[in-house]
Amino acid sequence: MDFETLCIHSDRKIDNPTGAVATPIYQSATFAHPGPGESTGYDYSRQQNPTREQLEYVVAGLEGAACAVAFSSGMAAVSALMELFSPGDHIIAADDLYGGTHRLFQYISEKNGLTFSSASETGQIAELITPATKAIFLETPTNPTMRVFDIAEIAKLTAAKGILFIVDNTFLTPYFQKPLLLGADIVLHSGTKFLGGHNDTLAGFLAVKDPGTEEKLRFIAKTTGAALSPFDSFLLLRGIKTLAVRIERQQQSAMKIAKWLTKQSEVTEVFYPGLPSHSGFELSKKQTSGFGAMISFSVTDRALADQVLRRVQLIQFAESLGGAESLITYPMMQTHADIPEADRIAKGIDDRLLRLSVGLESAADLIADLSQALGK
Ligand SMILES: *Cc1c(COP(=O)(O)O)cnc(C)c1O
Repeated sequence: MDFETLCIHSDRKIDNPTGAVATPIYQSATFAHPGPGESTGYDYSRQQNPTREQLEYVVAGLEGAACAVAFSSGMAAVSALMELFSPGDHIIAADDLYGGTHRLFQYISEKNGLTFSSASETGQIAELITPATKAIFLETPTNPTMRVFDIAEIAKLTAAKGILFIVDNTFLTPYFQKPLLLGADIVLHSGTKFLGGHNDTLAGFLAVKDPGTEEKLRFIAKTTGAALSPFDSFLLLRGIKTLAVRIERQQQSAMKIAKWLTKQSEVTEVFYPGLPSHSGFELSKKQTSGFGAMISFSVTDRALADQVLRRVQLIQFAESLGGAESLITYPMMQTHADIPEADRIAKGIDDRLLRLSVGLESAADLIADLSQALGK
């Protein structure tokens, strides 16, 4: 089946005697047993719930995974993932990560005895591998400067050395990029973003290729307890039905806006992998089927960045991304505020950088809003 069809029709796993077309919300914490040692397949909703199970099945199908495990947020998924590792284990992470992931690694995982090295490009990874290296963790394109890592190239290294390769696929979704098919072992999602798509629900996923890893993650999930609720599972299932049409349109608008931004004298740099001038353009064409709907751009000075954030009207100044509503963020103060200043500026996340998540409003209206906000 094609991706669009899978978004709508892959949720057929559970018997549905009523013929309900939408997956019912099984709002039950627990499930009764027919007798000792017998089970309907459901015991307690922290462990599994029929609505969540449907959703996991759909997400696994979209990523080409053996299974997916749903969590109450993207960060809950990252923290569960870290439980696969033990003190002394070493992880190589992209140096340009979602700020919350960076915070978790630095303040919680390090305290728990894990060590980290950071890589800013594909070519640096091989030399950072040590006998203690257990995983490589990255986002591509990176957040917020949109650098692109070569997934297939890194997968060759990790497969040869038995290292877990984890890709946060939140920005592109499996509609544009399927890391597992390129050789990664685990895909992470903040389902809060494009998968949910409506800025109304938090969710997270780990989609895995190998059933052995699934078993470990299910044990961690039921033991640590950050399960996605039945209602939120339903909202995610509903959001995913329109994923393909939403992100396709969002990308079309993003391309128009990125091109428009490059022509504005107030804009000094535009980071969008769909622009031929972007460092990741050629590689993106090779490993993804699209460039997504996230654009970062720098303006001439801090005062102008401030003005844009105050003046936008349709576009809202809020954290998050991927929903129907366009959002603009100030990475320095919001998503990346916990990164030490010197590191942050070295990564290009300075007081002139803004990040735009292009929503489903018309591109012309969004351009008009940006234009007035820039003071044109
Ligand atoms: C938002 C985000 C996360 C964290 O997800 P939450 O659902 O907010 O906990 C992780 N990675 C990326 C790339 C994100 O954008």
